[in-house]
Amino acid sequence: MTGNKQIWKSYLTISVIWLILLLLFVAFTARQSINQARDEVKQTGTALHRVLSQRAAQHDAHLTSLNALILSANPAPVDALRQVSRNIIRFYPRISVIDVMLLNRTGSTVNAEPVLMVDESEHDNIAVDFAAQVAEQKPGEVRTYLSDKLADRYYLGKKSDNANPGYAIFMAINPALMIEPDERPDWADLTLSINDKIILEQQSGLQTVASRFLEQPVFSQKIDSQNQPLLLRLSRPMALSDVIDPLHTILFAVLSLIALTGAYALWRFQKATREAEQKAQLSEHETRLAHAARVNSMGELASGIAHELTQPLTALLSQSQAALRLEASGERPELLKQALAANVREASRAGEILQRMRNYMSNHEPQRRRLEINQIIRDVAELLRTDLAQRNISLHQQTEKISPLITADPVEMEQVLYNLIRNAADSLSQSEISDKRITVTAEARGGQLILSIADNGGGIADDILPRLFEPFFTTREAGMGLGLSLCSTLIERIDGEISAENAPSGGAIFTITIPMAEPELSKAAE
Ligand code: ADP
Repeated sequence: MTGNKQIWKSYLTISVIWLILLLLFVAFTARQSINQARDEVKQTGTALHRVLSQRAAQHDAHLTSLNALILSANPAPVDALRQVSRNIIRFYPRISVIDVMLLNRTGSTVNAEPVLMVDESEHDNIAVDFAAQVAEQKPGEVRTYLSDKLADRYYLGKKSDNANPGYAIFMAINPALMIEPDERPDWADLTLSINDKIILEQQSGLQTVASRFLEQPVFSQKIDSQNQPLLLRLSRPMALSDVIDPLHTILFAVLSLIALTGAYALWRFQKATREAEQKAQLSEHETRLAHAARVNSMGELASGIAHELTQPLTALLSQSQAALRLEASGERPELLKQALAANVREASRAGEILQRMRNYMSNHEPQRRRLEINQIIRDVAELLRTDLAQRNISLHQQTEKISPLITADPVEMEQVLYNLIRNAADSLSQSEISDKRITVTAEARGGQLILSIADNGGGIADDILPRLFEPFFTTREAGMGLGLSLCSTLIERIDGEISAENAPSGGAIFTITIPMAEPELSKAAE
């Protein structure tokens, strides 16, 4: 379930990354396309603007030459004017009409008498409508006019001289012919307007969805002319396919999906390989550790058994030798009895030790119960009596009248005490002093049993004090270094503590603190 969830989560992440990539790609390509379109519009607009400005300047030039012709004779040379006008119209088809009128102003009324009208077919004598306005112009000035009669034209009127009557030249221009068909690209929407009035509109027919959402690129500029206020506006409606290239987008979508899933698969593969390697390393490590632990504990156990059994066996041996001597001498039969009783105790102690080892190996819980510590001290003192006497060491017991109670395995407790007293004895054996003493003190303090074993031997060197309880730490040639380590393990198991220090008067003191059993319960146990 969790594995499936994990896979779905990964797929979801890949999809989200893929979508983000795709969106970024679309945004990037759209931006590129829009920038490109903007450049195109600008370039085309600038080119058209230049051409239109040149053509408007040509209109001015024609008016100037006609004016010059009018002024060349009095009255104006009509035939020559007609000839020139016809030529102009023939070569410049966008100029559809040229009128020349004689203006005569009386008061506020202006009478316009047509002098010539070239290409009348298109013309409904519109020039006359503007005669009064042209009469108001300065001599030589050109103005642009628009007429509702022919809305797709614009007109240029020029006042020829200042006399009354004077002449007016009038020119109609077809803006549709100002731009050649190949000058406007297919994509372009184009308008020409004069004072906000559109006189030419050419559509690309490309009105599309994209244009509604995107700002279209636009070129808008008045042409360079003093008297023809023509505004050129060029724009590019954007189709969706102009903005997003479907082929590229699909290609990118497919390739990025392949790349993403490939990268994900590679990542997973590497991760799995790494994990497998780590697992293999770990299990190898575990195997090594388990092996080491097995070897250690077996060694420790074997050493422990040997260590523990040495004392009862030694005692058994010496007691038995003493008994043999007594038996041979036939003296003091009561001492023989004592020696045999001691042998029985030693043998049963050895048996208990072996039983406990068996329990330990089969993972049996220690047999804990309420104990009187005074009794344990007495038993151990009795066990070691002969050994200590042989070594000329005295053992002193300082115990409370009513024994403090603890909860512990009696054999384990005896073992601890036995080890500590024997260590003290070993230390004293090396000493030269005459009064070799070991003092065992047991007192109850604040719910704790404080048990101390002090000797007046050589004490413990400062540098070895911190390592004393380490397994296999020993300074003795025949030592195993397991006695104190075992003591600390056993004491810690019953929530106690053990520590070692040197007495100010010389010798070592080992102190054990063990929580005492509840007094009520101890009574009940009694
Ligand atoms: P072992 O007795 O096999 O050496 P232990 O763990 O019982 O192992 O003791 C470790 C070491 O602690 C001893 O080798 C000895 O140097 C030191 N030691 C223990 N008890 C005493 C003591 N009462 N006085 C001085 N040194 C001691």
